[in-house]
Amino acid sequence: MFCYQCQETARNEGCFKIGVCGKKSDTADLQDLLIWTAKGVSFWADLARKEGINTLKAADFVINSLFFTITNANFDNARFAEMVDEGNAIKKDLQVNLEKLGKSFSALPKAATSQITAKEFLENVDPAVGILAQKNDDIRSLTELLIYGLKGMAAYAEHAAILGYRSDEVEEFMFRALATTLKAEPQQDEMLNLVVECGEKGVAAMALLNDANTKTYGNPEPTEVNIGVGKNPAILVSGHDLKDFHELLEQTKDTGIDIYTHGEMLPAHGYPTFKQYPHLVGNYGSAWWKQTDEFEKFNGPILMTTNCLVPPRDSYKNRVFTTGVVGFEGLTHIPDRVNGKPKDFSAIIEMAKKSKPPTEIETGSVFTGFGIHTLTQNKDAILDAVSAGLIKRFVVMAGCDGRFPSRDYYTKVAEKLPADSIILTAGCAKYRYNKLPLGKIGDFPRVIDAGQCNDSYSLAVLALTLKDTLKLEDINQLPISFDVAWYEQKAVLVLLALLYLGFKNIRLGPTLPAFLSPNIAEFLVKTFDIKPIDTPETDVTAMMAGK
Ligand code: SF4
Ligand code: SF4
Repeated sequence: MFCYQCQETARNEGCFKIGVCGKKSDTADLQDLLIWTAKGVSFWADLARKEGINTLKAADFVINSLFFTITNANFDNARFAEMVDEGNAIKKDLQVNLEKLGKSFSALPKAATSQITAKEFLENVDPAVGILAQKNDDIRSLTELLIYGLKGMAAYAEHAAILGYRSDEVEEFMFRALATTLKAEPQQDEMLNLVVECGEKGVAAMALLNDANTKTYGNPEPTEVNIGVGKNPAILVSGHDLKDFHELLEQTKDTGIDIYTHGEMLPAHGYPTFKQYPHLVGNYGSAWWKQTDEFEKFNGPILMTTNCLVPPRDSYKNRVFTTGVVGFEGLTHIPDRVNGKPKDFSAIIEMAKKSKPPTEIETGSVFTGFGIHTLTQNKDAILDAVSAGLIKRFVVMAGCDGRFPSRDYYTKVAEKLPADSIILTAGCAKYRYNKLPLGKIGDFPRVIDAGQCNDSYSLAVLALTLKDTLKLEDINQLPISFDVAWYEQKAVLVLLALLYLGFKNIRLGPTLPAFLSPNIAEFLVKTFDIKPIDTPETDVTAMMAGK
C-alpha cells in the first residue's frame, strides 16, 4: 500500500504498511483499484457523453467510488470488491454502446479495458495501478491534488444528488479530469489547469449542495444548541447526510427516544425543518477523532451517515450502524433506499429503546446556523460594526479537526485573537474553540459557525458580498484573514475553491500536504501566497496587521 491523501499520513510522508487511520494494506490496495476503475469508466463516459449516450450510471459510479475512498469513510473490502465488478460492467456497456455507433478504438489505456476482479488483483497487486506508478514527482503531485479535490467534490455532489440536485457541469468535469490522468504522458500545464478548474467546479458543487440543503430544509437560522444530556434513551447521528437525518427524525417521532448530533452533524440544528422535532435535543461530544471515548459513553446506538468513522472498539462496536458510503466489516449496515422509499432505521430504534440514556460529559451550549441567508441579510450590520471600529478583523478558521496535539494551535489562536475580531468557521475545526467563553460583539457571537465543511461556501459568499457592497477591486482588500486547518480531501476541495475565488495569503496547517512535491508546493506558495502556520502569537500579530 501507499497512501498520503490525508494530513495524518505517517511522518508526513505516506502510510506504507497500515494507515494511521486504521486502513489495512489490502483495503488501501482495493481503494487504489477502485479509483483506477473509476478512471477507466471516466475514459468511456467522457467519450460517450459527447455522442449523446446516457452516462447517469457512470456518473453515479464515479461519484460513489471517489466518495467511498475518502479518508475514514469505508474500510469494508467486500464493498470495494462489489464496486469494482460494477465498474467493470459499466466500462463494457459504454464501450459496446460506442461501438454500436461505429466508433473504433486503438491504443486504449489498460484501466479502460481491464476486467480484473478484486480477488485477482489482491493475489498479485499491480504497482501500475497505485499512486507511485507515476514516476515524475511533480506530475504525481498535481494528479493526486486533482484526485483529492475530486473526492471532495464527489462527496458534495453525492449529498446534493440524494436530494435530487445534479450538475451536468460537475459530472462532465469529473469524467474529463479522471480520463486525463490516464494519458501516457500527462503534461504539467494540462494538470495544473485541471487543478485550477477543480477549484472552479468545486465552487459549483458547493453552491449546488447549498441549494439542495436550503431548498429542501430551509435556510439555517442562528441556533443555540444544548451540549448536555436529557434522561431519555437516545440515538447519536454523525456525518453529513441530512436526508438520513430527516428520515431518522421522522421514524423516531413520539417513541420516547431523543436524537443527538455528533461531529459534522451539529449544524443540522440550524435548519427550520429539523427544529420542528422536539426530540432533537442537542449535540453530544465534539469532533470525529474523539469518537472512541464519546461513543463509549453515549450508551445508545450511533448512526454514521458519512465519514469520519474511526475503527470502533469492541466495547461499543455492536452499537455502531453505518449507511450510505460508510462501511466497516462487522458493523450493521442500513441498506440504501429502494424505489425512493425511506431507509429502514427500525433496528437502530429497537436498540435505542433498550439503551441507557447518555452519560453526561459536559453542559452548556454552542451556536450554529449562520448560513448564507443570515450572513448576507446582516451584511449592513456587519459593515456598520466594521466602520464603527467594533470589528477590526475577521479570521476564517474553517476546516478540519484531527488527532495531532499540534492542533491546539487553533485553540490558542482563538484565545489570543483580540476581542474586536470575529472567527468565521465551518467544518469540524470549530470544536477546537467553539466552547471557549469568547463572548460577543454586539449581536454577533465571536465564533460565527456557518455549518459543515461544504458551508465554507457561505463564508466565501459573504466575503464576495462585502467586496461588492464596498466596491473593492480585490477581495483581499477586505479585513479578512484565513487560517485554515485541513485533514481530509473535502478540505482539499475547499482550499482549491478559495484559491479559484481569488483569496490569497491563506495559512494552512497544521502541516502542508505530503502530496505536494517541493516544486508544486513552491508554486502554490509563490502564486497564491499560501503559507504554513507559525506560532499562535506570531500568526495572530501578523493576521491582525493584515499580513
Ligand atoms: S487516509 Fe491518511 S492515515 Fe489513512 S492510509 Fe491514507 S494517508 Fe494514511
Ligand atoms: S471538516 Fe474536515 S475532517 Fe471534518 S468532515 Fe469536513 S473535511 Fe472531514
